[in-house]
Order: sequence, then structure tokens, then C-alpha cells
Amino acid sequence: MKTSIDKKPARNLTAADRCDRCEARALVGTVLPQGGSLLWCAYHFNFFEEGLDAVGATILVDERCR
Ligand SMILES: [Zn+2]
Repeated sequence: MKTSIDKKPARNLTAADRCDRCEARALVGTVLPQGGSLLWCAYHFNFFEEGLDAVGATILVDERCR
């Protein structure tokens, strides 16, 4: 399976992207199977990660390690 590294990323997160749960800068972007997309700060992503996994969300961008 190819990683998304050699494809053009859907988009990169910038300082203008904010977590959907708080005002922190978004570091993780996910898309839901039904089509919605959500942005997360590291804290809220960790908090909701199990739930996201349970609904089959896909991580599009993860900049937590940068
Ligand atoms: Zn947050």
C-alpha cells in the first residue's frame, strides 16, 4: 500500500487551522466515513482517538511529530 507521502497531500495544516473543539492550532486532520472532516489539536485528538477509530475515521494529516 502506498503512503500518502509521494502523493500530493490533500492539504497541509497551517497556523490558521484550529481544533474543532478548542482554539488551539490543529495538528491532526481526520475524515469520517460519511464524509465529514474534523481538525484536532494534539490534546483533543488523543482524547477522541478511540472514538474516531471506532467510527472508522481516517487520518489525513498528522503533524504532531514535527
Ligand atoms: Zn483542541
